Amino acid sequence: MRIGIDLGGTKIEAIALDADAPAARRRVATPRDYAGTLDAIVRLVAELEREAGRGGSVGVGIPGVVSRATGLVKNANSTWLIGQPLLADLEARLARPVRVANDANCFTLSEAIDGAGRGSETVFGVILGTGVGGGIAIRQRIHEGPNQIAGEWGHNPLPWMTEEERAAAPECYCGKCGCVETFLSGPGFERDHALRSGTVRSSREIVRAAAAGDPHAMGALERYHDRLVRALAAVINLLDPEVVVLGGGMSNLPGLAAAVSVGLPRYVFSDAVLTSVAVNVHGDSSGVRGAAWLWPSGGDPSGSDPSGSDPSVKTGGRDSGT
Ligand SMILES: [Zn+2]
Repeated sequence: MRIGIDLGGTKIEAIALDADAPAARRRVATPRDYAGTLDAIVRLVAELEREAGRGGSVGVGIPGVVSRATGLVKNANSTWLIGQPLLADLEARLARPVRVANDANCFTLSEAIDGAGRGSETVFGVILGTGVGGGIAIRQRIHEGPNQIAGEWGHNPLPWMTEEERAAAPECYCGKCGCVETFLSGPGFERDHALRSGTVRSSREIVRAAAAGDPHAMGALERYHDRLVRALAAVINLLDPEVVVLGGGMSNLPGLAAAVSVGLPRYVFSDAVLTSVAVNVHGDSSGVRGAAWLWPSGGDPSGSDPSGSDPSVKTGGRDSGT
């Protein structure tokens, strides 16, 4: 049995896969401190194993990565994880080897194998949620890179910034200003709407207001579309993926994939844009499935992968139940 944990900014998803079919699943709110997060993961694993009646391998997708240089978490927008020995602590608490990988990589792996990127050689997976991340799958294997940051477009500056955007570029937790994440995350979208309208609304409320014809809400959505198009055009100029798969809570904005497809030719350096843009197939389950698949089928925790964080070991699998 393979257990996958997707450690999100607001919720933790957990799934137990038995022969790639879900045997049990759980969802809890993410504690906003390190000790609480560790406890929550350990508790979820125990609950899943009790419900399924047996033990399993554990793969965890996190917003960030465990650095190969230090063994500590880096690049996490859930900032209470930064600098923590998450992998070592989990292995000690769970008394078994654990694999930890970037959540966007887990998402991309899942979608590249049997989701919206199925059958495509190059997939750029995008997380638009509490933070903005990305992952690159080439022939159904994650390309991680020596710094483990391949696909991290969220902390590039927003391309083709207007003067207004440059002047009001929000500060990012990473220490820079005007990062893609500060515009395209859920909180970034809400802040942009609040700045222009003077009204604080949730993303959901903005979408509802836009559908009802509210000009401020419609303006916020239009700006969001255009910024996403610009940010993805820069990625396409560099990587030229066959498919861009949209994930995370903001990917549920109505008509988002179509709006991006229509906008791309304006910015991509090509006579025509043949890259397809699609919303993910497996929804909230994609990250957690990819995390479970960090271990090869059979879930033998004594199996190989000395790096402990290499999602490219994925060898196959289908989860038709989600
Ligand atoms: Zn940043």
